[in-house]
Amino acid sequence: MKIFCIGRNYAKHAKELGNDLPTEPIVFCKPPTALLNDGKPFYHPNFSENIHHEIELVLRVCKNGKAIDPKFAHKYYNQITVGIDFTARDWQNKLKDKGQPWEIAKAFDGSAPVGSFIPLSEIEDMSNIEFSMTKNEQVVQHGFTRDLIFSFDELVSYISRFFTIQPGDLIFTGTPEGVSQVKIGDNLEGFIGNRKLLSCKVC
Ligand code: MN
Repeated sequence: MKIFCIGRNYAKHAKELGNDLPTEPIVFCKPPTALLNDGKPFYHPNFSENIHHEIELVLRVCKNGKAIDPKFAHKYYNQITVGIDFTARDWQNKLKDKGQPWEIAKAFDGSAPVGSFIPLSEIEDMSNIEFSMTKNEQVVQHGFTRDLIFSFDELVSYISRFFTIQPGDLIFTGTPEGVSQVKIGDNLEGFIGNRKLLSCKVC
């Protein structure tokens, strides 16, 4: 099982971190040990002073594929949920400054909580999915798929140029604006529309 993630796929989020908009998808991976299934607590690692939440829509791959044409990409995923791309922002900034890989900032243990999946057949309009995250019952992030820079089908096609995708692989599709630091004791919840799909307590 592989976890693919996409960076800077919502313009307002790219800007809040002072980044340019990408001209091609920014792809990185997390290992299976990053996965936290719904309801499991996130243990705040002691190597970082600044872990940020990034709520993202997550696709689940249902079919083997390689070099997929964008017009067939929709056949390769059939479930969706929300997940959190936890990011050690202090490490990310340090590594970016040195031009070094992001893994320590992005791929550490427990850095990918994922909610309960729902079939895509239950989504009315894929081009306008609303999703959100609350921290201690306050809405902190709120996004719509209409604001994606690269669509789900473009992402699946692009990733499959470089990596064979396989059933069970997950694709984190990017975060909208509103990322912020989490602290021990925070209670994070993720929603598609008003359906709560993810709960994650920071311990
Ligand atoms: Mn992200």
